[in-house]
Amino acid sequence: MQEKCHLYKGAVFYFTDSPVNRKDSYVYIPNGALVITEGKILETGSYDAVKSKYMSIPETDYSGKILMPGLIDAHIHYSQTEIIGMYGKQLLDWLNDYTFPAEMNFNSPEHAFRIADTFIHELLRNGTTTCVAYPTVHPVSVEALFQTASSINMRIITGKVLMDKNAPDGLTDNVVEGEKESRQLIEKWHKNGRNLYAVTPRFAITSSMEQMQMAAHLHKAYPDTYIQTHLSENLNEITSTLNLHKGHSDYLNVYEKAGLLTDRTLLGHCIHLSESELKRISNAGAIIAHCPTSNLFLGSGLFDMQKANAAEAQTVLGSDVGAGTSFSMFKTMGESYKIMQTLGYPMSALETFYKSTLGTAKALKLEDKIGSFRTGSEADFIVVDPAVTPTQQLRKEYLMRANKWTIENQLFGLQITGDDRNISATYILGVKKSDTRSSHLALEK
Ligand SMILES: [Zn+2]
Repeated sequence: MQEKCHLYKGAVFYFTDSPVNRKDSYVYIPNGALVITEGKILETGSYDAVKSKYMSIPETDYSGKILMPGLIDAHIHYSQTEIIGMYGKQLLDWLNDYTFPAEMNFNSPEHAFRIADTFIHELLRNGTTTCVAYPTVHPVSVEALFQTASSINMRIITGKVLMDKNAPDGLTDNVVEGEKESRQLIEKWHKNGRNLYAVTPRFAITSSMEQMQMAAHLHKAYPDTYIQTHLSENLNEITSTLNLHKGHSDYLNVYEKAGLLTDRTLLGHCIHLSESELKRISNAGAIIAHCPTSNLFLGSGLFDMQKANAAEAQTVLGSDVGAGTSFSMFKTMGESYKIMQTLGYPMSALETFYKSTLGTAKALKLEDKIGSFRTGSEADFIVVDPAVTPTQQLRKEYLMRANKWTIENQLFGLQITGDDRNISATYILGVKKSDTRSSHLALEK
C-alpha cells in the first residue's frame, strides 16, 4: 500500500461544514501533512504524526505554504476567454457587440481547441480545478472542452448552449436539432471519466418556451445531469424577458413553467430577485451562482448575499469570464467581499472560500468527490503561498509580530491582495499539472 503513497508537507486547510453562522467548520493544521494514494486523499494530520506512520514514502516539502482543495468556479464562459476586458457596455449590448461575434468562431474545431487549451491552462494557473462552463451552440465547442479537460483528467461540467432565437444566424439551433445534439453529447460525455453534462439553455431571451421545455425533458431523461442558465442579471434583460414570454408573474416563473427549476439547476447572477423568487429558488434547492467581477464590470447590480443566506438559498461563486474580469477565484472572492461591504455585510473570508470549495461541491452534490480533504476524496488540490509580493510579505510580518497570522487573516489577505501569483502548484488527481508561474504550462507526466 505505502509504496503508492506520497506525502505533502505544509499547512493543511479544508472545510468540513458551512462557516455561515457556525464555528468549527474547518480543519487547519499549521504544520500539517497530506497523504495521497492513487489520486485520492488518504489522510491528513500533523506532520509529525503522519510522518511516523508513513516513514518511508516519498515526500514533497511545501513548508510555509497552504495545501487546500482546488477552487471551483461555478459559472464561466470558455467561449469568452478572448473577449475579457472589452470596454463599456451593459449586458444586452455586450452580448450583441462582443460575445456573439466571438462565439461565431466556435464552429471551427481548430479555434475551439485553441481556446479550450488556453482556458484550461488559465484555470490551472489560478488554482481552479473544477468549473461549470458555457461553451457555444456548436457541438464541436463542447467536444473541444471535454476532450481538453479529459486529456489531463480534469473534472468539468459543461454542455451545448441552446439558443433558438434572438441571436445571429450561425449561433442559433432549433428545438429538434438542439435536442438531438445535446442528447448525442450527453451519451458520449456524461460520466465519461470525470466529465459531467449540464443542459444549457443560455437564458429566456435566446430560447423559446418550446426549447426550454425540451431542455427540462432532456434533464428528466438524464436526471443526474445539471441545468445551467442565467437569471435576473440586468434590469433591461428582465423587461425584455417578460415582454417575450407574456403571462408570467416574474422572470423565475418563465423557468418554472418550462420545468427548469430543479435541485440541480445553476442560476447565474440572480441580482434583481423579489423575495418570492428567492424563496422559490431556495425551496427548489436550486443553486445561485454569484459572479461579482462580472456584475461590477457590466454595471448589472449588487447581489445581496445576506438576503440569500437568510432565505437559505444555496449560493456559490463564479468568475463569469469574459464579462468577469479575472480567472482568479481569489479576485472573485475579493470583489464579492466589497459588494457585501457596500450592502452592510462584512462577509468573512471563510464564507467566500467555502463558497468556492466545499460549498460548491455540496451544491453540486459532489461533496463525496471534490471540495475537501476527507479520506477518499479525489486529490484535486492547490499549493498556496500566502505571501509572494513585497506587500504581502510585509503584511505577513506585521501580522506575525502581532501574533495574528491566523488562517482567517491569511485567507482574507489572499482574497483582497492575491491572484495567480499566489498559486504555487495545482494538482489534479494527485498529479502536479503546472509550474504555475509561467503563462503556458508544461503538463507533467
Ligand atoms: Zn454567464
